[in-house]
Amino acid sequence: MSDEYDVELTEEHIMLRDMVRKFATNEISPVVDQDENDHRFQRELVTKMGELGLFGCPVPEEYGGNGMGYLAHAIVTEEIGRASGSLRVAFNMQTMGTAMSILKWGSEELKSKYIPALMSAEILGCFGITEPDAGSDTAAMASTAVRDGNEYVLNGRKMWITWSPVADMAVVFAMTDKKAKHNGMSVFVMDMDLPGVSTKAIKEKLGIWACPTGEIIMEDVRIPAANLLGEEGKGFGYLMKELISTRLSAAAGAVGSCQAALDEAIKYANERKQFGKPIAEFQMVQEVIARMVAETEAARALVWRCAIQKDKGLVNNMRETVLAKYYACRAADEVPNLALEVLSAYGYSNEYPIARILRDGKVYKILEGATNIMKMIIATDALGLKKANR
Ligand SMILES: Cc1cc2nc3c(=O)[nH]c(=O)nc-3n(C[C@H](O)[C@H](O)[C@H](O)COP(=O)(O)OP(=O)(O)OC[C@H]3O[C@@H](n4cnc5c(N)ncnc54)[C@H](O)[C@@H]3O)c2cc1C
Repeated sequence: MSDEYDVELTEEHIMLRDMVRKFATNEISPVVDQDENDHRFQRELVTKMGELGLFGCPVPEEYGGNGMGYLAHAIVTEEIGRASGSLRVAFNMQTMGTAMSILKWGSEELKSKYIPALMSAEILGCFGITEPDAGSDTAAMASTAVRDGNEYVLNGRKMWITWSPVADMAVVFAMTDKKAKHNGMSVFVMDMDLPGVSTKAIKEKLGIWACPTGEIIMEDVRIPAANLLGEEGKGFGYLMKELISTRLSAAAGAVGSCQAALDEAIKYANERKQFGKPIAEFQMVQEVIARMVAETEAARALVWRCAIQKDKGLVNNMRETVLAKYYACRAADEVPNLALEVLSAYGYSNEYPIARILRDGKVYKILEGATNIMKMIIATDALGLKKANR
């Protein structure tokens, strides 16, 4: 990767990026293909990421973070995403979807109990929104939470929950008043070892095989009322804000996926000879490389703009977050496809990582909000029908 765009980075950002790149090169890249083929999740790698302080960029030091901010978070996530789509998810599971929600809406007790443990990866987190019949339409969720004295009783079933089979805690959404729809949703911190909580792994999926994904089944799960985040009934608003964080992280991971595909295509184009010369010398191959570079850098620029705005205090910049998510996640689908054109038959084999990057890149257009939903937010904002940044 060229360093020309380092102009926007501070010394600390560059040192952080180099440290993470070294970690990813030494610890993740040598095992990534085998782990994917074996569908093996290595908790130790997440622990090491915690020990290096990689999860703590947007989190204050008093809760175990380092306070370096959102741009630092985006840089770290891109570097890990460049090495492994499966391990990239850690930044939403440990930081954006869990710790940041507790930081924003949790009591002091919840903050000191959960955030430092998430930062160090002593515990693993997950967050549960999606259900079998509630995907994009989150307010259609059927899970319920009923107040009973000093407790809430949770019932329902969450679907497609990243890390649910391995997580120690969840930030989980449920309806406290179903009739009130958007105004009847609430959010809770739930320990995964409570009686009534069970999980079921989704074994076969298109990509990110080393990333456990599954259902969470909640049957009369009793959790302390103190585990409610913020106010009862305000969960939908919190969810929208949580997504403004998790979408940035997903978009940064998507840039990593693009960069990984570009790295492979450049290397191969310079090595592979046909008709007596490297295929890099053929203009039609150069055209593909040019598109890959442009897509990757445009995606990165949108991600960094979004992160820099957040570092300046505009944390709820939904418009810029959604633009970054839309563009970068679409690019993570397209750029590996272009790489396949360059590598051709060898890209189709498992000898080269393009097949993995291609498979893993697909998920970005689905999670943290499907691409159509991103386009809807961008368009309704542009048309003046519904302003995204309110
Ligand atoms: C690997 C993986 C990991 C995931 N991890 C998590 C997790 O950790 N936690 C969690 O809660 N969820 C998770 N999800 C779920 C993910 O967030 C949802 O899949 C996503 O929000 C979309 O929902 P859906 O797939 O049910 O699609 P649907 O909402 O059923 O949509 C189907 C299609 O219809 C389109 N569509 C829907 N509504 C509209 C509309 N109004 N206008 C135009 N088009 C529309 C969509 O864009 C899509 O193309 C994960 C999913 C995957 C695949």
